[in-house]
Amino acid sequence: MTYRHRDHAGNFGDVLKHVVLALCLEHLKKKDGPFAYIDTHAGIGAYDLGEGPDGDWAHGVAKVLAADPPAEIAAALAPWLSVVRKLNGDRTDVALAAYPGSPEIAARLMRRQDRLHLCELHEDDSRTLQARYGGDDRITTERRDGYAALGALLPPRERRGLVLVDPPFEHRDEMAHMAEAAVTALQRWPGGTYLFWRPLTDMWASERFDLGLAEWLIAEKQFEPEKILRADLWIRDLDRAGKLAGAGLMIVNPPYTLETDLLVLLPWLCKTLRQDEEAGWRLDGALTEEVV
Ligand code: SAM
Repeated sequence: MTYRHRDHAGNFGDVLKHVVLALCLEHLKKKDGPFAYIDTHAGIGAYDLGEGPDGDWAHGVAKVLAADPPAEIAAALAPWLSVVRKLNGDRTDVALAAYPGSPEIAARLMRRQDRLHLCELHEDDSRTLQARYGGDDRITTERRDGYAALGALLPPRERRGLVLVDPPFEHRDEMAHMAEAAVTALQRWPGGTYLFWRPLTDMWASERFDLGLAEWLIAEKQFEPEKILRADLWIRDLDRAGKLAGAGLMIVNPPYTLETDLLVLLPWLCKTLRQDEEAGWRLDGALTEEVV
């Protein structure tokens, strides 16, 4: 396990993932009943950006903060940006000192009645996570394989909630592991909202994951195609060698407002974060072989 998320915190992939995560959490808060949030690959919760302006975050969250979005976009960014700003002492006049990971976003947006379960397999990172959240009785942290945990944690007793599956993709078979875990999880709890993050590096593998999952849900689990949404963003030519150029989410049971939000957010994020003329985005609802 050599992947360290601190090297990438706040990059364009985090921006899209975390904006969507925050919107989903806000949607769950529209009802008073408690919800569960399960983060299978949690990382360390928050990241110190104090290593200079050359980090990936300078091309991600920093560009969003420097932009002046129209009101509709600002409203959709607001839940995520409120956490970014709070973590930085509500100061907007200085360069960012820290960036919130998915656990921090959830911890700051959730309410007294909600419950958060964090799995992190890396020994040091799981210790850091425990030190950060150990005092919060709404939050459980575990040093555990997040995929295996899904079998035990689902369905949550609240019967409402969100699962984020955000693996590091440092092994070739990660996509296959995620697909297996997705099937297990959705068999156990078809009613949950799921965010599956994947990089757009091996397009064959990501396409296989997306279509395989969508078609299984529709054919075997009688899902309405509208309950499956794909949102991707690439900030430069996907074929250009170098750092990660594209990534996104397969979303199962999205809040009904999410597709409309993403329809305005994705083109704006693309324009704001683009690094060359080949940057782009896609948003596919009702995903089946015919729309690809
Ligand atoms: N979700 C985090 C966020 O948005 O802030 C970032 C997670 S990072 C992409 C992936 C994390 O998964 C790393 O911290 C890595 O140590 C951890 N990890 C790798 N394999 C794992 C496994 N099988 N189960 C749980 N955690 C794992």
